[in-house]
Amino acid sequence: MNNIELDLAVSQLVKTERKITRQILDLIVLAEKQRLPAERGFRNTHDWLIRGHGYSGSAANRRVQAARLLNVVPEVASKVEDGSLNLTTLWQTQKTINAQQAASGQKVTLEEKREALHSIENETSEGAERVLNALFPDGVQSGEKTTHKRDGGLRIFIEVTDEEAKEIQRSRELLSQSTTSSHGALYARLCKEYNDRKDPLRKAAAPGRGDVIRKANGACVFKDPVTGRVCGSRFNTQQDHIIPKAKGGSDEPENMRCLCRRHNQLMAEKEFGREFMENKRRRSDSGTRHRST
Ligand SMILES: [Zn+2]
Repeated sequence: MNNIELDLAVSQLVKTERKITRQILDLIVLAEKQRLPAERGFRNTHDWLIRGHGYSGSAANRRVQAARLLNVVPEVASKVEDGSLNLTTLWQTQKTINAQQAASGQKVTLEEKREALHSIENETSEGAERVLNALFPDGVQSGEKTTHKRDGGLRIFIEVTDEEAKEIQRSRELLSQSTTSSHGALYARLCKEYNDRKDPLRKAAAPGRGDVIRKANGACVFKDPVTGRVCGSRFNTQQDHIIPKAKGGSDEPENMRCLCRRHNQLMAEKEFGREFMENKRRRSDSGTRHRST
C-alpha cells in the first residue's frame, strides 16, 4: 500500500468511526430511556459501559455526557458524523453546563445549549474550553484533583470559596487541641465524625431498622434475573420494602432489603408505573435547586 492509498484508507475508516460513534450515542440514549443499565444490574450508565462493554472510565464518561446532550439537542448527531463536533467537545459542553447550573441554581435553556454548540463547531478542545468558559462563567471548572499515592493514600488538591474557607478555619480553631494540624488530617477527622454519626453500618446494633443495610454490608442487593449480576453499589443505599407498604407490605425484616437509590426507583417504577413515579419525583424536585447529573 503506498502512502496515497494509506491516507485514503484511514480517511475512509475515520468516516466510518464517526458514523459508529453516532450510532453508539443513539443507543446510549435509548438504553437510558429504557433503564437498561439498572435492569441489567449495573450501578449506572457509566458502570454499564465500563464493566459491561470494557470502556475506560474517561471514555465512558465522554460518551454518557455526549449522549445526554444529544438527547436534548438531536441535531448534534449529524455534527458528530461530519466531525464538526466530537466526543471531547460535547463532553466539555455538557460538563460546563452542569457546573453552570449547579453554581447558579438556574437551568441553562435549550436555546443557550444550541448556541453554545454552534459556537464551538470545528473548535479544538482548547478553543472550545475558552468559548464555553466565556459563555458560562459560573461553570468554569475548578482545578480539583485527586491522585493515588503509592502507599494507598490519596493526594487531594481542592478549591473552596471564601465562605467555605471561613468554615474550615473555624473547624481548625475548634479542633486545635487535637491532631488536626494539616488540612488532610482535619478533613479526615471531620469525615470520621460524620460517618460515626450517620453510617448505618456503624450505629449500635439495635434490632429493626438499619439491620437490613448492615446485613448487606451497605451494598445494593439488586440482582439481574437474566445474568445474575448483583449491583453492589454502596452509594445512597436505602431500605426498600420488597412488597411496598402501599400494597400492604410489612416493616418486618423479611420484607426489607438494601437497594441503591437507582434500583429503589427502578423497583418503584415497576410497582407503580413509570409515569406515576416521574410525576412524584417532579413534584418533590420542584422548588429545590437543580441537581446536576
Ligand atoms: Zn443498585
